[in-house]
Amino acid sequence: MQFTELSGLMKECGIVGAGGAGFPSYAKLSEKADTIILNCAECEPLFRLHRQLLMTYAEEILSALDTVRETVGAKKAIIGIKAAYSETVEELNEHIGAFKNIEISLLPEVYPAGDEIVLIYETTGKVVKPGQLPISEGVIVYNVETMLNIHFAIKEKTPVCYKYVTVAGEVENPQTYKVPLGVPLKKVVELSGGETVKDCVYLSGGAMTGRVANKNDVVTKTTNAILVLPQNHPVVMKKKTNSKVNIYRAMSACCQCRMCTDMCSRNLLGHPIEPHLFMRAAAKGMTKDVTAMMNSMYCSQCGICSMYACHQGLSPSMLIGEFRNEIRKRGIKPEKEPKFSEVDEHRKYRTIPMERLVSRLGISKYDVEAPLDDSPQDFSKAVKTLKIMLSQHIGQPAKAVVSVGDTVKKFEKLASCEGLGAEIHSPADGVVKEITEKYILLDIKR
Ligand code: SF4
Ligand code: SF4
Repeated sequence: MQFTELSGLMKECGIVGAGGAGFPSYAKLSEKADTIILNCAECEPLFRLHRQLLMTYAEEILSALDTVRETVGAKKAIIGIKAAYSETVEELNEHIGAFKNIEISLLPEVYPAGDEIVLIYETTGKVVKPGQLPISEGVIVYNVETMLNIHFAIKEKTPVCYKYVTVAGEVENPQTYKVPLGVPLKKVVELSGGETVKDCVYLSGGAMTGRVANKNDVVTKTTNAILVLPQNHPVVMKKKTNSKVNIYRAMSACCQCRMCTDMCSRNLLGHPIEPHLFMRAAAKGMTKDVTAMMNSMYCSQCGICSMYACHQGLSPSMLIGEFRNEIRKRGIKPEKEPKFSEVDEHRKYRTIPMERLVSRLGISKYDVEAPLDDSPQDFSKAVKTLKIMLSQHIGQPAKAVVSVGDTVKKFEKLASCEGLGAEIHSPADGVVKEITEKYILLDIKR
């Protein structure tokens, strides 16, 4: 396959990183790559999706991975998968013999093995410099669901209209579903038999990197999981604490023990971020140590400092997240080539075992199988209207290419992007009811 053909297919089918920030997949393709990595580390606690998908579609995903590798002219592809996912590894071993340029790299059961920069180090030994993209080291990373979407784009030109979502926590039957984009989260939770506690809270994403979501928020191309928790659960209370309170707590309780820095996943790779210095500067007034503040721009938001490392219960990552948003809004950019150090010699002793993390987060009782139901869920009886968001990706929001009153078919294009962004397609036959700058409402045809 030609490079432009593959890139065009990815763009036309609206493929973005399925989970995480939703970086448009075509924009990652580069002929400078010497290695393609398939990310099946799946380190967010309670997530099962990637290992389930890779087990179900091993041959298809391997074939798409090899096509991408060959198309960009990369020497090899590596599947980064935890050794603990033994059934999936066994399944991969059944098929991998047919792909001589693909190898498996077994990862330890630690957090955050799935962070792109950590994964690249673990599988290739290369360290991506702070603020740089993986391609600067000749690497491209795609996750398992993204690669499955690439497979369907190559094979059938099928656009992305569904998302696999794991429903976990306080629900009758934790499970992973294939749901159309635009369905409210509460309707997805109903598939799992509904909530088992009163007044629960939804986290979109997981306990470490997820955010508190409104139950009427809708599924997008990056919705990985809905974690349902009681509202007095420590994870919820931590995520709901506002920044004023977080700053007051930093001022009164940060003892500068630097545990957050010693365990920081990016600091351990030699990146200049030091959350304890950020906390000191934040507590004293943001301008006291500009370097510490600006270096926080290299944070991955893995959550270790707030959810695990700080024994005072403080929240460096949350304050850093807000600071970064503010800085970005003002158009201030971090240094392009900051100083960085060698990988910390103690790194391997400071990674976090998953079992310990799950226990510390207080979610052990939710750590159960959430089997994959691979059939597309039909919401035509439960939902009248789909709300299709126009910004489900990094880059510009898409612009509608349909008008109110138009009848559209399933898979038809609803919105398009001229610059960096992603095309959006209809998950169902229907009629366009409303268009705003943020979303398109689609009445589903019954
Ligand atoms: S771990 Fe907590 S108390 Fe220690 S330096 Fe970091 S934020 Fe401060
Ligand atoms: S969230 Fe905390 S631990 Fe993770 S990279 Fe950012 S500062 Fe480091």
